Amino acid sequence: AEQDVEQELTDGFHLVIDALRLNGINTIYGVPGIPVTDLGRLAQARGMRVISFRHEQHAGYAASVAGYLTQTPGVCLTVSAPGFLNGLTALANATTNCFPMILISGSSEREIVDLQKGDYEEMDQLAIAKPLCKAAYRILHAEDIGLGVARAIRAAVTGRPGGVYLDVPASLLGQVMEATEGEKSLIKVVDPAPAHLPSSEALDRALDTLKAAKKPLIILGKGAAYSQADADIRAFVENSGIPYLPMSMAKGLLPDDHPQSAGAARSMALKEADTVMLIGARLNWLLSHGKGKAWGEPGTKKFVQIDIDAREMDSNVPIHAPLVGDIASTVKALNERMGADWPKAPGEWMDQLAAKRDANVAKMAPKLMNNAVPMDFHGALGQVKRVIKENPDTMFVNEGANTLDFARAIVDMYKPRKRIDVGTWGVMGIGLGSCVAAAVETGNPVLAVVGDSAFGFSGMEVETVCRYNLPVCIVVFNNNGIYRGTDVNPTGGEDVAPTVFVKDSRYDQMMAAFGGVGVHATSTDELYRAMAEAIASRKPTLINAVIDETAGTESGRIGNLNPQSVVGKK
Ligand code: ADP
Ligand code: MG
Repeated sequence: AEQDVEQELTDGFHLVIDALRLNGINTIYGVPGIPVTDLGRLAQARGMRVISFRHEQHAGYAASVAGYLTQTPGVCLTVSAPGFLNGLTALANATTNCFPMILISGSSEREIVDLQKGDYEEMDQLAIAKPLCKAAYRILHAEDIGLGVARAIRAAVTGRPGGVYLDVPASLLGQVMEATEGEKSLIKVVDPAPAHLPSSEALDRALDTLKAAKKPLIILGKGAAYSQADADIRAFVENSGIPYLPMSMAKGLLPDDHPQSAGAARSMALKEADTVMLIGARLNWLLSHGKGKAWGEPGTKKFVQIDIDAREMDSNVPIHAPLVGDIASTVKALNERMGADWPKAPGEWMDQLAAKRDANVAKMAPKLMNNAVPMDFHGALGQVKRVIKENPDTMFVNEGANTLDFARAIVDMYKPRKRIDVGTWGVMGIGLGSCVAAAVETGNPVLAVVGDSAFGFSGMEVETVCRYNLPVCIVVFNNNGIYRGTDVNPTGGEDVAPTVFVKDSRYDQMMAAFGGVGVHATSTDELYRAMAEAIASRKPTLINAVIDETAGTESGRIGNLNPQSVVGKK
């Protein structure tokens, strides 16, 4: 009889899990602890994939990358106060990047927190999360769990995607209710990201603007990659005949070796284009705000922009033809209106860009063959380029300063959503979390190319990679420090310069410590072979790639953003 009673009951733990599963969320990235340890255990028992990390920030980055790759919010589960704060960085980063993610955090008792009586890990988490995400909710009653999870999912993916905070106090999880009532209280979200079409006037305005252009240019951003409208976007680009530039995470949406790619003629394309169409790319700092030297004569350009968020229009420069809508529906509608006999963009413009592109590629080619020891960035990245070309399904993760800037320009991508990097903030630390999510969500091998500094932010997660036996190969570009390994303490004192690490570190031994494969690579040949082997074997691998410590430049390509003291330098 006792068993009968048990079977008729459910509780907060089970309702949270059932609500997620009902909505197609089958993976949780998190760190266990009070009060969510049992939530993770029970989720695993219910058939969910529960990936435990060593630090919440990396679980959070993993969840955000899962959201980016699948259009379903990635879930990160954290403990109260400090764990919550660790996850919050990733939630804010997800929001900034327009990746759908839900941070579910345990919290302590409202009665104690609200009167500041001093609870274990006391913090008013809801209030703190609110300004850093799209929406924040707290659930206080078990019968509201279905509703809370549904609202969180809808908020994360509808319109411009982003991060959502969901606060689950410890007392909620233990609340018991009748199982059938509980089941009835759950909500399966219908049409969470509804199609959104611009008006026919807006579509005509955009097409007329493009038709009138002599030097049109398309810029594809990670919003376009996110939209999963790969075939329609390609058809639009090809049917229009307009050259295009991919933003870093949109690389591969069309293959980088596509004849219309202007990637290797970026400066000329931005400067000389007369009409620029942005598809899921913002005119933020990454595009010099759409003005200034990089954009040529002021006021001469017309902009067309597709974005789901109407408020993005005119954020930096006037947008002549705004297309407010979701990219999949909007591009499809444009294709239909253009038909098959659309006049292609003027051929001289593409020819001009192609000539510049081919010259730049030819100039770069010998640098990529450099096999000097120690390696420089170009020589090492020449091998990375080769290995990605040979294994185009590989997920490519990239962070660092020089390591990022050079790799973005050098390593071609051939398929959509294969490149994950530091995104809109240019944040360091996304590396290992991104690797885990890329492997878990796609099943494909992952190659991460990260600077030695960048690696340090998430390095402990090599244990996570080994524990789940993920097909992840991490290449640490080790030049003994941040930017370079050559800075010295100007006082001659004992402490090393703030940008310098232990010389000749062996990051490969960290991987070996957890049972993975560690490789110390000093030549381009060793580097290539180790990467190819890791991708083929799918064994967790870390390659310590020794890079010339004099090779980097200050702040990589964004040195202009780094203020430097004139007074302080003697
Ligand atoms: P990048 O850094 O690659 O230039 P951004 O993150 O700056 O890309 O821009 C992405 C843009 O895409 C955001 O403004 C976002 O609102 C938009 N976006 C995201 N998903 C969609 C979608 N499905 N349809 C339309 N716009 C989208
Ligand atoms: Mg370095």
